[in-house]
Amino acid sequence: MDSDQSIFERIMTGEIPSELLYEDDQAIVIKDINPQAPIHILLIPRVKIPRLVDADESHQALLGHLLLLAGKMAKQLGCEEAFRLIINNGADAGQTVFHLHLHILANKAFEEGQLAAAFN
Ligand code: 5GP
Repeated sequence: MDSDQSIFERIMTGEIPSELLYEDDQAIVIKDINPQAPIHILLIPRVKIPRLVDADESHQALLGHLLLLAGKMAKQLGCEEAFRLIINNGADAGQTVFHLHLHILANKAFEEGQLAAAFN
């Protein structure tokens, strides 16, 4: 096993099982193992970019792809009228897996102005 591989890379190779909702040549979408809302999924690019700030111009199309995919997944899951899209950047912001990923959280009452409510 390549010890530099992220958990998400090990999920992509099938080494770690996951509930796969979608995949294409650029990204996969899985259910979060520890959901913080009734709908909690992760959109993960196949290429490992550790944090959002590590992305550069070469990732522009991929980042656009991920945002469009977020909308498509929200529609597919029936939560397109109300969902939160979250990227934690850095350990102090709550990032625990250093392979860029987007969280979609939905089917939960989000309190106006309380962003932290998405995770608590
Ligand atoms: P972060 O805290 O880095 O923004 O988010 C990492 C997310 O990955 C967490 O919500 C955590 O529950 C999820 N996660 C960690 N390990 C696994 C795993 O092995 N499988 C799945 N499906 N999710 C995981």
